[in-house]
Amino acid sequence: MTSQELKDFAKNVVGVDAIGIAPISRFEGAPEYMSPRTVFPGVKSVIVFARRIIRGCYRGIERGTHWPSYQVFAYSGLTKLVHQANYRIGRFIEDHGFLSVPCPPAATLKEAGPRGPVPPGGKYPRDVNVSLRIAAVLAGLGEMGWSKVLLTPQFGPRQRLGLILTDAELEPDPVRIGRICDRCKICVRDCPGNAIDPKKGNTITAPGAGVSWECNDLKVGKCKLTHFGLNRATSPHFVKTFPGIYLPMEEQGNTWVEGWNFGHALFNAVPTWKAFSAYPIAICGARGCIISCMNHLEKRRRIKNIFRHDFTNEKPWRLPEKPLVGHDDHHGFVYDPEDPESVPSSIKSDWY
Ligand code: SF4
Ligand code: SF4
Repeated sequence: MTSQELKDFAKNVVGVDAIGIAPISRFEGAPEYMSPRTVFPGVKSVIVFARRIIRGCYRGIERGTHWPSYQVFAYSGLTKLVHQANYRIGRFIEDHGFLSVPCPPAATLKEAGPRGPVPPGGKYPRDVNVSLRIAAVLAGLGEMGWSKVLLTPQFGPRQRLGLILTDAELEPDPVRIGRICDRCKICVRDCPGNAIDPKKGNTITAPGAGVSWECNDLKVGKCKLTHFGLNRATSPHFVKTFPGIYLPMEEQGNTWVEGWNFGHALFNAVPTWKAFSAYPIAICGARGCIISCMNHLEKRRRIKNIFRHDFTNEKPWRLPEKPLVGHDDHHGFVYDPEDPESVPSSIKSDWY
């Protein structure tokens, strides 16, 4: 099995949109809780592939009119297609006598914290996960933008990734970084969660590949609250259910795990969310880090997948973050349900 045979199968038979290969040597120096070698000590090559997100999935959220198509076709549905592709490529690899270890996207040990006792013999506790985005860069699929989202030359920020570790020694692809993100910071301006830092960066170093790059120091807790729809500015469903809560994003200092747990705790209280899904969903719609970035890269012709019409030329919509009645000196629930004068007018709104 050559690299080309594998790529031809993945692209022409399975239908993935892009695929790249890194030798395991490029992961030298990776933290053990994220290293492919911790998952599979015999790994020789790391394969990363992408399936594009259909651009039209962003239309409803960008208009403030329709959320399900993003959740269904860009998240849960597309993730299933990535898993199906992973399975079919894995079968192809194993038909040639090599092991295929599929690694789905998941939070790393560092984010989620140790989840169980450490097995004997100096091993790591469970929930070791390889970063798909870093692996994608090292496999030559693209680069990480200032937003920390993977940008590919074909689709910019608009894809989901699959990852396979194998003991097959495959011809690698060159690493290419610094060609797509122009540091416009439009992602910073349009992120409703104030999650993307305008100036402060983190450097990611891959000594095995001889490369390093800088991304913003993402406030993952703020992003998680906004992503799960707990940001009033971009979540009419949340406003409808909790009209009096004031949760200014700028002031939130929660961790990713706290945001995750808070989203799961509140999810069942919001009827429109339950109608979409059985678990918390993508309410933000990646307004800054994907929609605005994509719009910018298309207009500047910095990516290949260009359309006949601009995606949008409108300013992103926002709802008031503060309840329409409330307290300047008090955060939390700010209205008195017993006092009709204090009931926010948003509860009487036509919107949801
Ligand atoms: S919007 Fe995209 S291209 Fe512009 S700085 Fe952010 S990641 Fe880079
Ligand atoms: S998902 Fe939303 S909140 Fe998170 S970084 Fe992207 S635009 Fe900002």
